[in-house]
Amino acid sequence: MKSYEKIYIGGEWTAPSSEGGFDVTNSSTEEPLGRIPASSPADVDRAVKAARAAFDAWSRTPSSDRAALLRKIQAGIAARGQEIAQTVAAEGGMPLGLSVMIQAGLPAMTFGAAADMAGSVDAEERVGNSVVVREAVGVVGCITPWNYPLHQVAAKVAPALAAGCTVVLKPSEVAPLSAFVLAEIIDAARLPRGVFNLVTGDGPTVGEAIASHPGVDMVSFTGSTRAGKRVAELAAASVKRVALELGGKSANVILDDADLARAVQGGVQNCFLNSGQTCSAWTRMLVPRAKHDEAARLAKEAAEAFAVGDALAQGTRLGPLVSKRQQERVRGYIRKGIEEGATLVTGGPEQPASLPKGFFIKPTVFANVKNEMTIAQEEIFGPVLCIIPYDGEDDAVRIANDTVYGLAGGVWSADVERAKRVARRLRTGQVDINGGSFNPMAPFGGFKQSGHGRELGKAGLEEFLEVKSLQL
Ligand code: NAD
Repeated sequence: MKSYEKIYIGGEWTAPSSEGGFDVTNSSTEEPLGRIPASSPADVDRAVKAARAAFDAWSRTPSSDRAALLRKIQAGIAARGQEIAQTVAAEGGMPLGLSVMIQAGLPAMTFGAAADMAGSVDAEERVGNSVVVREAVGVVGCITPWNYPLHQVAAKVAPALAAGCTVVLKPSEVAPLSAFVLAEIIDAARLPRGVFNLVTGDGPTVGEAIASHPGVDMVSFTGSTRAGKRVAELAAASVKRVALELGGKSANVILDDADLARAVQGGVQNCFLNSGQTCSAWTRMLVPRAKHDEAARLAKEAAEAFAVGDALAQGTRLGPLVSKRQQERVRGYIRKGIEEGATLVTGGPEQPASLPKGFFIKPTVFANVKNEMTIAQEEIFGPVLCIIPYDGEDDAVRIANDTVYGLAGGVWSADVERAKRVARRLRTGQVDINGGSFNPMAPFGGFKQSGHGRELGKAGLEEFLEVKSLQL
């Protein structure tokens, strides 16, 4: 059990002003894993005041000093990597081996990358008689979800600190434990007081208090489109800058000249990463109609090869979902898919017989899916793949773009130039060609209702900078 009673404000662990808290559950066993305190709007106010008080000095601290502190945080995360990976695997269900790389390794890398980029904030650009300089936006409220909890925190906090901003972080109340580890690491790194503050609690109480606080200059939000809209609405009252990383329903377009076996295998793996609890997952597989049945057969084989089990057990390839609520939600979508007439190729809504406890979902594949079906339009956030047949390249592009979202996608073809042409027609923030791997230095973010703003790399740092022109 990891229980926390205090939040982190102004460089100190302090008791929140409200009572109560949130239980954290081991998603594989349904046993208690930890407990965190609930903060109140008054605690948010204290945190914002601490961040405001720290802003002037921190934003004027030489970027090399900020970088040195970010490297200390990177080293702290690396030193506690195994503990972080285990905690996040137990909370959210990612198998431990992957969790070591993604849930702990990636955040450490992000702090290192932010340190490397911190100096670029000082660059000046000459435009005619003007010198264009950049400076920190101010106090940033960071609100994050549970599926990649420390990665999503790092993708905001690291560049915000590098830019010279101060931060009030509210992690997800569902998988919050790694954020407490980060706060301990930051405390040990001796960042100036108030530069980083942690408040915990739910969205309607604490998240909304951050989004509407007049002392917050920017909100960087990752989560559902529903909550993102609410954050933007509240932030509008004081004209805050808002960056939104929201949901997705991404298409994996397999062209007629692609290596079908490789493309289907890669597509299933992408869709099932973190049990499908991935905003950028390719949940719609688009295949030429003539190859549909063969693709369904290959997808069934690939899905059934996923060993479902405890996220911390050796050999597990597919862990549980984060919570009972998510499990019920995903089961509901699977039932809906059957009702709406899609062909259930493998999986289904029942609890796997060998795993009576834990929030497990069988790896599920639907074929003959029509893009207007609920399972092809709504974000399911579980290991559920929809195979959709198409007639010709234009039809594939039309179907891929026929969604309110635009976060990610894939294109597979024997001809890379053809794949690039199709990728450019997808209204989405990133497209992997023939399984091209995730690049933590490339900008990440959405079109349409997947949000606006970018995280990671140079574009991710620039989100936290204002531009100023000095006329000479
Ligand atoms: P969520 O929207 O329920 O919660 C996300 C965060 O927002 C949490 O900290 C929550 O407490 C807070 N929140 C909830 N309601 C709020 C409100 N009214 N005001 C302010 N804050 C509020 O999402 P979730 O269930 O934690 O995460 C899953 C969602 O996140 C999925 O839709 C997924 O696609 C999305 N996501 C997007 C990205 C991306 O980069 N685009 C990455 C990961 C997850």
